[in-house]
Amino acid sequence: MSIHNILSKIDQNIGLNKQDIMSLLQSSDTDTQLLYEKADELRAKYMGNAVYLRGIVEFSNHCKKDCNYCGIRRSNSIVQRYRIPQEEIIMSCINMEKAGQTTVVLQSGEDPYYTKEKIQNLLVSIKKETNLAITLSAGVRSLNTYKYWKDAGMDRYLLRFETSSVELFQFCHPDETLQTRINALMNLKSIGVQTGSGFLIGLPGETLENLAEDILFTATLKLDMIGIGPFIPNEQTPFAEFNNPFDSEIYFKTISVIRLLNKKAHIPATTAFDAIQPEGRNLLLQRGANVFMPNATPQKYRVHYQLYPGKPCVDESIEDCASCVINRITNMGRSIGKDPGHSILGY
Ligand code: SF4
Repeated sequence: MSIHNILSKIDQNIGLNKQDIMSLLQSSDTDTQLLYEKADELRAKYMGNAVYLRGIVEFSNHCKKDCNYCGIRRSNSIVQRYRIPQEEIIMSCINMEKAGQTTVVLQSGEDPYYTKEKIQNLLVSIKKETNLAITLSAGVRSLNTYKYWKDAGMDRYLLRFETSSVELFQFCHPDETLQTRINALMNLKSIGVQTGSGFLIGLPGETLENLAEDILFTATLKLDMIGIGPFIPNEQTPFAEFNNPFDSEIYFKTISVIRLLNKKAHIPATTAFDAIQPEGRNLLLQRGANVFMPNATPQKYRVHYQLYPGKPCVDESIEDCASCVINRITNMGRSIGKDPGHSILGY
């Protein structure tokens, strides 16, 4: 089927099948440009011109899990571990709000030190000191814990499923099952927490068909936020010797196809795209993405939160990151979102 026919299915609200998606991912030159333009058109129509800023505070790099691709996995003894004291986290949030940001994303490894009570205390304190919306990303927890955190002020939760292939998931995650993650996502959705998920592109052994299946699976979850990133081999992990099987253009096409299938989802231009191509995040904002996540982790901790090598924005201060991002966005003719940028799927 030609790209024109596939894209006209989107206009007619006809779902795409796996073959359509594989054709889009394999498109070249002018066809790829049409895909990018369609994704940008849908982003403008459904999500508007504004780019929402969601500052990330990586508050702990301790993790009890051992995902084979991850730089802060339990078995990596080279990493210097840290937990940011609560007062410093709150100070980052206050500075973020002063810089015009409306959401904080609190991200950590799966750190058992952070009991449900400790996180609750953190959430309540941030809500007391700021008007920020709070997105939390702290791994798989029980339904009761998620409810407890929602009551304490958690607005959103991010938990990537990483791959929809059971075999590939098992190969990458020795201490977890895909079903456990999916159950956690369903629990979050069942209690009305705005839920984000997504996957890694190009895990070892992944095929184009797997990638198309990940895209289709993502759409079935009806997510409020969708975050994806490329697999970048980290030399301190068991996957050090694997290369990403795809070329970098596929990463960008994937974001655009995700926009076609998820018109009303918030889609961030994730940091890893700047690691694979200069200004990669700017390109994503012109190819379907509408969210930017500046690094708001206090500078002294950033270097120790490297899930993959070559992570950008490690040496800059919070203030530098905040002003850099505003320049990047306004230079593209886009505005900065003034409201919290909550889900538009309806809660
Ligand atoms: S990917 Fe997440 S859960 Fe897995 S080791 Fe890294 S921080 Fe821990």
